[in-house]
Amino acid sequence: MRHLRKLCLWLFFACPQAWTAQPTVTCSFTIPADWVQNLCGQDVKIQTLAGPNTDLHEFQPGPAAARAVLSADLIVGIDPLLEPWLNELVISNHLSDKVIWLGKLWISDKSPQKGDPHIWTDPKIVQILVEKLADACAQLNGVDRTNLATQKDAYLKSIQKLDQTLSADFLKIPAEQRVVITHHNNFSRFAERYGIKVAGVILDSSSTEAADPSAKHLARLIQQVHTEHVSLIICDRGERAPAAQLLARETGLPPPIAINLDSLDKLGTRGGTWLGMMNEVAAALIHQWKEVK
Ligand SMILES: [Zn+2]
Repeated sequence: MRHLRKLCLWLFFACPQAWTAQPTVTCSFTIPADWVQNLCGQDVKIQTLAGPNTDLHEFQPGPAAARAVLSADLIVGIDPLLEPWLNELVISNHLSDKVIWLGKLWISDKSPQKGDPHIWTDPKIVQILVEKLADACAQLNGVDRTNLATQKDAYLKSIQKLDQTLSADFLKIPAEQRVVITHHNNFSRFAERYGIKVAGVILDSSSTEAADPSAKHLARLIQQVHTEHVSLIICDRGERAPAAQLLARETGLPPPIAINLDSLDKLGTRGGTWLGMMNEVAAALIHQWKEVK
């Protein structure tokens, strides 16, 4: 009996989770997974479907993804239009009561259903998404609600601080210089938040899957670079972007800068968190604008 008590005590200190079942949260991709991590820490087990540096537009779930969805206590996505592959998994496995779509208000509930679905590039929207996510996590058995509330407040403060810093940094760049063309339609929310004008988009779609632009579209973009005084072409890191290169050559602009707004890098790197990614993107733009000034 004494031995058993000793063993129990040891277990308690070695792994407190052994005493409460740790709920599983399955996230569509790395960015919502990072928010869950910030809110719940070790209270939950996080499974991420489209992992670091994976294009969420082209993700194709295999058996491992299906298992991760089936074993979840909570499934987190942005919107059925952004992650149709998650929606299919949810519907085919009758898991609608387990899923939370954080961004429906901005995407599929909007009429017409147009616009940029990359809503996580605007910190003001992210604050609302994080609040909503925290409410859902608070319902999970095994999540300490007091800790969750403290961690939520701290994270919301970090988001606010990030937003203030970026606003101040972009204001130092002259407004007439803050004009860009992007590779796919993933930058308009960030741009709107920080007073950047998106004069054109190379791919005619909000995903990276669209075909390369037609000669006619490219000719229009070349014209826009001149009439709208575009200073920078942005392309997606890890994606081939021959049209962006061509556009830069044809217009005499510097080579496109590659940024990553669609997924996080590996954990432990600067771009491995949402806050880090946002800082990295801002730093890349500001650096380039100071260079060409
Ligand atoms: Zn995208």
